[in-house]
Amino acid sequence: MSKLPNIGTSIFTLMSKMAVEHNAINLSQGFPNFPVDERLTDILSRISKEDIHQYLPMSGYPPLLLKIKKLVEKGYQRNIQPETELLVTAGATQAIFTAIQALVNSNNEVVMLDPSYDCYEAPVLLCNAKTVRVDLNDDYTPNWERIEKAFSSKTKMMIINNPHNPTGKTWTESDFLALENLLEKYPEVVLLSDEVYEYITFGPKHISVHSRPKLFNRSMVVSSFGKSFHITGWKVGYLVAPEHLMVEIKKVHQFLVFSVNSISQVAISEYLDLVSVEELGTFYQEKRDYFRKLLQNSRFELMPCEGTYFQVASYAAISSENDVDFCKRLITEHGVAAIPISIFYADAKDLKLVRFCFAKDNTTLEEAAKRLCAI
Ligand code: PMP
Ligand code: GLN
Repeated sequence: MSKLPNIGTSIFTLMSKMAVEHNAINLSQGFPNFPVDERLTDILSRISKEDIHQYLPMSGYPPLLLKIKKLVEKGYQRNIQPETELLVTAGATQAIFTAIQALVNSNNEVVMLDPSYDCYEAPVLLCNAKTVRVDLNDDYTPNWERIEKAFSSKTKMMIINNPHNPTGKTWTESDFLALENLLEKYPEVVLLSDEVYEYITFGPKHISVHSRPKLFNRSMVVSSFGKSFHITGWKVGYLVAPEHLMVEIKKVHQFLVFSVNSISQVAISEYLDLVSVEELGTFYQEKRDYFRKLLQNSRFELMPCEGTYFQVASYAAISSENDVDFCKRLITEHGVAAIPISIFYADAKDLKLVRFCFAKDNTTLEEAAKRLCAI
């Protein structure tokens, strides 16, 4: 008997596989196709000959922990204790899985907002707990009335994702004030804040849970170097949590991975001295603007994109198919892969929306846009 009867293969695997099979341009799964900074690959080749190939301490490479501390301090003026409040993880996915496994009990409920990223549901179900999925408003702002209704005495955790995958929406000060007001009424509830696109925003600066002292004592904030340094395949991220939560999270982490691979931690640690994460927003804003310009004469209607490297577009003017069928046909007939938005919802929705990843070199974006404009 399956422990996860309703969980299939992730849409990212399915669409990327189909893109390869049909030799399509892959704007589905979110990963950059441009070269990694040579300074990083230079560090990698040099340190690979050094004595760094054995287990690192469970929480992470100590110099890296100190550099993450400084990053959080500089970006958000939050002072964290690396020994007790910080954990390097095998990507954000492992951070999220581990936090849920460590803190959610059977029969608890976890509130999350749809459309929601696909890695939150399974770890909750594996705890024998339940997800309570609440639709965002049509403009992807949180609907506080619906969210409050979803809370109950069983609620253990709320998961938020800002900047938001797949919609590119970012949270405002008033969203956070509403969240703080709500959580004040539920002292037992912990907050899991997925902020992997924290440096990829195009309007006002990202508001992080790191800058919300009212939330510190109950929150886990998750980051990913995969997104920030264009190295999604390295699978290195980190989680910040207050000590009383981190103690529990580390109990799971030590038996899930024990420690994260050494060479990438050492490389990232050195690279953090050379790189500025602040440049990432401008870099991707140019990509977003270029991609939107390339598609302006297409029949796709482009939705607002305030952050992340995803552009949501409506194909309502092109086809009445459901989004999964449309995405399949987009690959087989037009040579471009995208992600259907309906898969991010618990309830089947007929939205006619797809997500394109614009973290690609300009030649790829130009060729993809040429194909999309021809539809
Ligand atoms: N959360 C969100 C919202 C994501 O988009 C992703 C991956 N793209 C992850 C978590 C997982 O990040 P990682 O690859 O570091 O595991
Ligand atoms: N987060 C990436 C996306 O949204 C996918 C990562 C994965 O395939 N698990 O496209």
